[in-house]
Amino acid sequence: MPAHIKKQRLLSLVIPCYNEEPVIDETIKRLKAFSAELKHINIELVFVDDGSHDRTAEIIKSYMASDTRIKLLVFSRNFGHQIAVTAGVDATAGDAVVLIDADLQDPPELIHQMLEKWDEGYQVVYGTRTKRLGESLFKRVTARLFYRLLNRLSDVDIPLDTGDFRLMSRTVVNTLIAMPERDRFVRGMVSWVGFKQIGIPYTRAERFAGESKYPLRKMFSFATGGILSFSTKPLQMAVNFGMICSSLALTGILYVLALRIFTNIWVEGWTAIMISILFLGGVQLISIGILGEYIGRIYNEVKQRPLYVVQESLGFKVDQTIKKQ
Ligand code: UDP
Ligand code: MG
Repeated sequence: MPAHIKKQRLLSLVIPCYNEEPVIDETIKRLKAFSAELKHINIELVFVDDGSHDRTAEIIKSYMASDTRIKLLVFSRNFGHQIAVTAGVDATAGDAVVLIDADLQDPPELIHQMLEKWDEGYQVVYGTRTKRLGESLFKRVTARLFYRLLNRLSDVDIPLDTGDFRLMSRTVVNTLIAMPERDRFVRGMVSWVGFKQIGIPYTRAERFAGESKYPLRKMFSFATGGILSFSTKPLQMAVNFGMICSSLALTGILYVLALRIFTNIWVEGWTAIMISILFLGGVQLISIGILGEYIGRIYNEVKQRPLYVVQESLGFKVDQTIKKQ
């Protein structure tokens, strides 16, 4: 494509921010420097303030007067990373959209390579983490296990060790926007969409400043959310486990009957009875719990609440607050 046509294109960056005061100045500087390197494409920076309690939104606003490429959505409260990403994507106007964290763990410079792949015809270009710097052994190990477990359980091919840092074409973005589910596991949803996708390996940098906004509790619910929204295998596993227990029980019954009929031995099995009652009780409760998880999610879906509430929408041409959510 000739350069003068490429100039018309627009790249949107979506940057979810939650209490990122210590890092946001530096992020904006890095993103501005990156934007200056872009020769054949215009850029918009869509920040989403996910109900921060600190000065994140004010700092972003302070840059807006001098830079019309910066846009900002402010949520009425904290809705979570995946919802913030969703809102940002809904608000973009670009021919391609890049999701990038606010803490500079995803190097903006990698976007150059993503753009090259996009030019080659790929609709999704995602960053695959080959190394993770500055993260605890626990986080690295659990993340590794999570992506492998997810891949086993899910019917959709979700790339391993891949976060939300990715470029998506407008076609993919429009499909994503048309997916109404509340339980949003964005990286899985993008895989589900299909088209030509490719990964670029990169080293995930250390967080520039501040703390991770994913404490263990959030990480766990993110992981279970991902699995439950992309797989019904846990339900099948409950059935299979039930079958195994029933077969064992049947063998036990036959054994006890055989003893009773053919021998004089009294079965003294108090321990055996207690163990099997407790074991089966546990299995049943777990199975009910799994069912409950799915039902809870169905309940959330049928309520049909908006995914997020925007308190302020700044720098956009159309008022995003009344946009379909
Ligand atoms: N984030 C968000 N809402 C949340 C938690 C996180 O918008 O409730 C943002 C956060 O500001 C960051 C990105 O999501 O830009 C990833 O979060 P974080 O860096 O804390 O996660 P980690 O890299 O430690 O997995
Ligand atoms: Mg981070």
